[in-house]
Amino acid sequence: MTAAQPTDGPLVDRYGRVARDLRVSLTDKCNLRCTYCMPAEGLPWLAGPQLLTDAEIVRLVRVAVRDLGVTEVRFTGGEPLIRPGLVGIVTEVAALEPRPRISLTTNGIGLARLAPTLRAAGLDRVNVSLDTLDAGRFTRLTRRDRLADVLAGLAGATAAGLTPVKVNTVLMRGVNDDEAPALLRFALDHGYELRFIEQMPLDAQHGWDRAAMVTAEEILAALRTTFDLRPDSAERGAAPAETWLVDGGPARVGVIASVTRPFCGDCDRTRLTADGQVRACLFATEESDLRGALRAGADDAEIARRWRTAMWGKRAGHGIDDPTFLQPARPMSAIGG
Ligand code: SAM
Ligand code: SF4
Repeated sequence: MTAAQPTDGPLVDRYGRVARDLRVSLTDKCNLRCTYCMPAEGLPWLAGPQLLTDAEIVRLVRVAVRDLGVTEVRFTGGEPLIRPGLVGIVTEVAALEPRPRISLTTNGIGLARLAPTLRAAGLDRVNVSLDTLDAGRFTRLTRRDRLADVLAGLAGATAAGLTPVKVNTVLMRGVNDDEAPALLRFALDHGYELRFIEQMPLDAQHGWDRAAMVTAEEILAALRTTFDLRPDSAERGAAPAETWLVDGGPARVGVIASVTRPFCGDCDRTRLTADGQVRACLFATEESDLRGALRAGADDAEIARRWRTAMWGKRAGHGIDDPTFLQPARPMSAIGG
């Protein structure tokens, strides 16, 4: 542990981790209702004045990349493609010095249309969430009949050069856990990089059950019924996914085992919610209010100071397996996944 909080430089914490990867939630709203994320009726959305404006988002990202050492910016939500100012925000962030790498995590709806514009604005790549290839299942899982739009979005992302296109998949027992090999075959055939994400206790309904979740071990066993998987020797660094070479490579598949093999010791994330709160972790129970500071007239140096203080307090780990674990008050869709 380090003793004293630095007053300048990057976002370090007392365990020596440095946050270089900023996740920005652009909205808590969504056009799907994935059962592991939101209830059918949606959630009490943030009111307009609570949301950061486009200019406030760009200003905070500027402070992050210029003064705090952030090199990667990922836009997420909710569903970031439904934020009206998205293209303008990407354009302005791409013009920052030093220019960060810019990516987007999306459910893919509308991406077919928007991909070329986003690419031209400076977006580097996308992660698209897709949990099933079966239209009926998709409709049950997301409560919307939109599989065709997501598949078109994936194809559009590749055509626009938002590559490598990564696909995020959450498996749920008895729902889509028999689809792991088919999803990998689909990804290999289309040149997408598939990453399975263990289901986490971040749903608004608090329906997560450790005993029922599909574990990384189970996912790998299911894939090995069809594919030869060898550990990928590439340096993992702060990447959350452990990757395997499929059938000798070069294609790879990843598993993000946040629950059963936590990677908190290597975490390099800092998060900004759509209403301007900094979170040191998805599972943090504390937030630091940068919107209030901005609107009270704080200068960039004061914003940077508050952000450093928020990250200094980052906990060593998320503690999901700790008997005292408390799910954060905000669900994943309101934090930014
Ligand atoms: N709407 C966009 C999307 O679905 O990609 C971006 C936001 S969503 C919250 C980001 C990612 O979080 C998605 O890949 C989604 O599957 C994942 N996710 C949502 N709830 C989750 C949960 N309880 N456990 C694990 N992953 C979850
Ligand atoms: Fe929307 Fe993404 Fe949550 Fe699904 S996972 S409901 S697409 S925010």
